[in-house]
Amino acid sequence: MKAIAVKPPQKNSVHLVDIPNPELNSVANGRGVLVKVMQVGVDATDREVNDGLYGNSPDGDDFLVIGHEVFGQVVEVGDAVRKVKPGDYVACTVRRPGTSIYDDIGRNDITSEEVYFERGINLRHGYLTEYFVDEEEFFVRVPAGLKHVGVLAEPASVVAKGLEQANLAQQRLQVWQPRTAFVMGSGQIGLLATMMLSLRGYEVFTFARGTAEGNLKAEIATEYGARYVSTNEQTPQELIKEIGKKPDIIFEATGNSRLAFQAMEYLGLNGALIWSSVTGGDNQVEVPADRINLEWVLGNKLLVGTVNGNWKHFEQGIADLSLGEQMFPGVTERILTNPVEGLDNYREMMTLLESGKALKVFVNVADE
Ligand SMILES: [Zn+2]
Repeated sequence: MKAIAVKPPQKNSVHLVDIPNPELNSVANGRGVLVKVMQVGVDATDREVNDGLYGNSPDGDDFLVIGHEVFGQVVEVGDAVRKVKPGDYVACTVRRPGTSIYDDIGRNDITSEEVYFERGINLRHGYLTEYFVDEEEFFVRVPAGLKHVGVLAEPASVVAKGLEQANLAQQRLQVWQPRTAFVMGSGQIGLLATMMLSLRGYEVFTFARGTAEGNLKAEIATEYGARYVSTNEQTPQELIKEIGKKPDIIFEATGNSRLAFQAMEYLGLNGALIWSSVTGGDNQVEVPADRINLEWVLGNKLLVGTVNGNWKHFEQGIADLSLGEQMFPGVTERILTNPVEGLDNYREMMTLLESGKALKVFVNVADE
């Protein structure tokens, strides 16, 4: 069967490979699940793996099948599988366990080991292929009514994890009733964060560079009930002055480390800042260190990062996508801007990613 692969650490090595069909029995004890891939979302991670910035082939192979955001349909399950059955729509997590205590208790998303195993990213083949097999534990069902946005389950899991982690950490305050949220960035993560914060009753302000007029991202943020703020027209400081308060929560998703540090200057007392950008470069920035340090110590502020949800975060992300469909019908599918038809068009997929202009690129691998 076909698959889209790279040859790490070679730069720009994306190509089509022929790989053997997966075997249900490759997972021990009857716990295997065979899935037909329907859609795979791609993002900056796939572009950076193709740029040779990170990622390694699995042991014994000289290529890595890429793609870590999968939506598919179960074809066959092992005898011991109870969680899913043939015909179910599913998403599947990305990271696989190592040997730390966190991995042992099902929290491989916070493994304490330096080397990690991630499908489509590092040491494990990804999902840009026709079929795959994995262990029951890593699957999450997607309701049939949500299959048009099921491919967003992975990015939704990252946002859900960030909000969960911030809420868990904020229990340190005993009473925390956040009302105002800033979302920095209006890519897929920023928009999904806008939706989830809006669903949780926050007054949400979504910041990005582009002016609002004729801007799809601004439209989506607004349809989610947020106020879209173009930083070309109003800075976060100016908005804070206008509304008379700093935010209780900031979800940073610009992909820019300078802006991630800048966000530290806007957070309100007892607030939580969630960082979700993964920045592979080596940018240097100057920050007002004394002032930030002082304000963060005196203001009891919290910083937490989010990446790589486990299956519970996928479940929460899918629940949020589902509630989002009820609350804001038809809005989330507008994020899915750039379909690529079939694995054969892998060059078009990579060109779209490299252009940086597409809100969301995804590959339609197969129908049901
Ligand atoms: Zn991703």
